[in-house]
Amino acid sequence: MPIGNLIAGRWQPPERTYVRKNPSRPEEVVAEYPLSGKPEAMAALRAAAAAFPRWRQTPPIERARILQRAARFLYEHLETIARDLSVEVGKPIFEARAEVCRAAEIFEYYAAWAWQPQGFLLASARPATELRARRVPLGVVALITPWNFPIAIPAWKLAPALLLGNTVVLKPSTLGPCGAFHLARALEAAGLPPAVLNLVIGPGAPFGEALAEAEEVRAVSFTGSVEAGLRLKAMLAHRPVRLQLELGGKNPFVVWEDADLAEAARLAAEGAFFYAGQKCTATSRIIVHIKIYEEFRDALLEATRRLKVGDPLDEATRVGPLIDAAARENVQRWVKRGLEDGGRILIGGQPVDPGYFYQPTVLEVVPPSAPIAQEEIFGPVVTLHPASDLREAIAIANATRYGLSASIATRRLDVAEAFLNGVEAGIVHVNQPTAGIEYQAPFGGVKDSGYGPKEQGWSALDFYGDWKTLVVRV
Ligand code: NAD
Repeated sequence: MPIGNLIAGRWQPPERTYVRKNPSRPEEVVAEYPLSGKPEAMAALRAAAAAFPRWRQTPPIERARILQRAARFLYEHLETIARDLSVEVGKPIFEARAEVCRAAEIFEYYAAWAWQPQGFLLASARPATELRARRVPLGVVALITPWNFPIAIPAWKLAPALLLGNTVVLKPSTLGPCGAFHLARALEAAGLPPAVLNLVIGPGAPFGEALAEAEEVRAVSFTGSVEAGLRLKAMLAHRPVRLQLELGGKNPFVVWEDADLAEAARLAAEGAFFYAGQKCTATSRIIVHIKIYEEFRDALLEATRRLKVGDPLDEATRVGPLIDAAARENVQRWVKRGLEDGGRILIGGQPVDPGYFYQPTVLEVVPPSAPIAQEEIFGPVVTLHPASDLREAIAIANATRYGLSASIATRRLDVAEAFLNGVEAGIVHVNQPTAGIEYQAPFGGVKDSGYGPKEQGWSALDFYGDWKTLVVRV
C-alpha cells in the first residue's frame, strides 16, 4: 500500500507514485510514496488557508497540549521510527534514535513556550493610554525540508509554527519522507485538527511553482542546497513572502599546537565522517598548526581507522552509505578532482560495494583555494591544511563562500577567544565537533550558508510570528 499525502485531514491515495530504495541494499524497496505535483500542492495550501481562522483562535495552551501528546507518541514509537529512518536514509541507528528523541524534545520545548508571556506592555507618553505588543500567527506557512535530518528538521520548523497558531504545508525531500510521515501521524494521534498540517510528498520544482502562485502563503522556511534555495528565493521575489533559507556548509575544524591531539583527532574524525559526512555542519576542512601537523595527521588517520563503515542498523556502525548512486558518483568525482589539483590521499578514496558506501577519505597537499576545499561535497571527504599562525588559520577558515559552523581545538583562552571573534560562521565551537547544536540555541549560517532569521530557540518564534502593536486609550 503506498503512503498518501495528508491533505484537508485525509490521507489521499496518490495518483502517481515512486519507490524509495534502501541505500545500503539498493535492490530492496523501502516504501512507495506519492509523486505529487502542483495540483496537490495547491490543494494542500488551500486546505491550510481554510483551517487557519479556527486554529488561530484555539487557545495556545490547547495547542501546546497537542505538541506534548505528539512528543509522547514519538517516544512510544521510538524504535520503529528510528529503524525506518535508518533504513531509508542510511543513518547509523544510534544517530537515528537520537534524532527521533530530539524531535520529541523539540515538541516539548516549544509546547513549554505557551506558558511564557505572549506579549508585553509599554509605558505610553499619552494620558490613560496602554501600549501593548502581542505575538500573532502569520497564516499559512510552507516548510521545505531535506533528507539528511528527516525528522529533526521538519520538527524544528513545525513545532514553533503550530504553537503560534499558523497552519502548515510540509514538503519533505523525496529521498527521505518517512520522518515527516511519522510526525504527521504523531500529530494526528495527538488530536491536531484536520488541515492544520498538510503533508505533500513530491519533487521540489512544482512545489516551488505552487508557492510562487498561491496568495495564501505568508512564509516559507527552506532547508537544503544553496542552488535550490536561491532558485526558490528568485521564484518568490515578486511577493511579500517571509523567507528563511538554511543552506550548505564547508565547515573548518582548527587544531592548535597546545591541543590534546588524540581528543582533537577524535572530534575531527567524528565531525567529518559520522553519517558519511552528510550533515550541513560536517567538518570538511581541517586546519592544523604547522608545529604539530605530522603528529596530528597520524592521530587523525588512527581515529579514522577506528570508525566502522557498514550496515546502519548495526549498533557499532558510524559510517553508513551515501544517500544514492548519484551522491556517491559526486564524491568520487570530487576526489578525482582533488588529485588533479595536486592532492594526495592519506586514507580511503574508494567506493565500497554493495550499497552506496564510500571509505572515509583524507586528502592533503590541497591548496585551500582548490575547488575540493571550497565547495560542499556532502560525503566522507576531508582536506588537511597546515597554518603557521592564528591569523593564517582564520584566513583559511574564512576563505570560502560558506559560513555555517566552525570549531577549534585548543586549551588556550586567548586563542579560543580570537577564533570565536574572527571566524565567519553562524555557529562557532571550542573543543567540540563542528556538527551538532542544541535546539534551544539559534541555528543558521552566514554568507551563502543562510538567509533570513535563524531557526530554533526563540529566534524561530520571531520567524513564525508577527508583533501586533495595540494602542488603547482607556
Ligand atoms: P536539496 O536542495 O536538493 O533539496 C532540499 C529540499 O528542497 C527538498 O525537499 C527538495 O525537493 C526541495 N526543492 C528543491 N528545489 C526546489 C524548488 N525550486 N522549490 C521548492 N522546493 C525545492 O537538498 P538535499 O539534497 O535534500 O539536502 C542536502 C543539502 O541541504 C546540503 O546542501 C546541506 O548542507 C543542506 N542542509 C542544510 C542545513 C542547514 O540547516 N543549514 C541542514 C541540513 C541540510
